[in-house]
Amino acid sequence: MPLRNIKVIAFDADDTLWVNETIFRKAEEEFCILLEEYMPKKEANALLFDIEMKNLPLYGYGIKPFTLSLIEAAILISNGNMTIDLVQKLIEKGKEMLNEPVVLIDGIEETLQELSKKYRLVMATKGDLLDQEHKLIKSGLENYFHHIEIVSDKTEKQYKKLVKHLDIIENEFLMIGNSLKSDILPVLNIGAHAFHIPFHTTWAHEMVNEKIEHPNFRSYTKASELLQLL
Ligand SMILES: [Mg+2]
Repeated sequence: MPLRNIKVIAFDADDTLWVNETIFRKAEEEFCILLEEYMPKKEANALLFDIEMKNLPLYGYGIKPFTLSLIEAAILISNGNMTIDLVQKLIEKGKEMLNEPVVLIDGIEETLQELSKKYRLVMATKGDLLDQEHKLIKSGLENYFHHIEIVSDKTEKQYKKLVKHLDIIENEFLMIGNSLKSDILPVLNIGAHAFHIPFHTTWAHEMVNEKIEHPNFRSYTKASELLQLL
C-alpha cells in the first residue's frame, strides 16, 4: 500500500543495500582459530566482543576499529605471547576486509530503480566515512541517491538533523534498514516511518529484544516487497 505523505525514503547501507555482517562473522571465526592455542574459540569471541564494546565510544564503527580491537584482544588472549607474525596476519585480515567486493542484497537495485522514480532516495549509514564511500562506489548504486548521509552513530538527534536538512517534516520521512536498534526505533521515536527488512545475521550489539507495534512500522522479508510503495 503506498504511503501518501512520504517524500523521502532513506536506506541503511550495511546489510540493507549490501552484505556486511557475514564479512565480520567470517573474520571473527578466523581470529578465533588463529588464537585457539591460547583460548577456546567461544571465550575468545566473547572477549573480542567485550573489547569492541569498550572501544566503540572512542573508535566508532567499521573495519579499521575492528582491526585494532582484533590486535588488542589477541594481546590479552595470548597473555602478550603472540608473535609479530600473528599481528601481521590480523592487520592483513583488516585490509582484506576493506578490499572485499561489494555483494548487493537480492533485488535491491531493481527496487531502488523503481522507487527513485517516485521518491527522493537517501542513503543513511553509520560507520567509517572512507570505507562507506568506497563501498557505495563499488556497489554501482550511487546514482539512485539524491543525498548520502554517513554519521558516526544513528541516534534520534542525527535523524532529526537529517530530516531538517532534507527540508521535510518527520511524517514525510521513511527509513528502511535491517537494524531495529539503529534504523527503526530512533526513527519511530521522532515521529517518522520505519520499515524493517531483517538480514539473516545480526551483530549482537544491534540486537533488540522487543516486539515493535507502531502505526508507522512495517516489516518485510525482502527488498522487492517495497515495490508495493509505488
Ligand atoms: Mg545495517
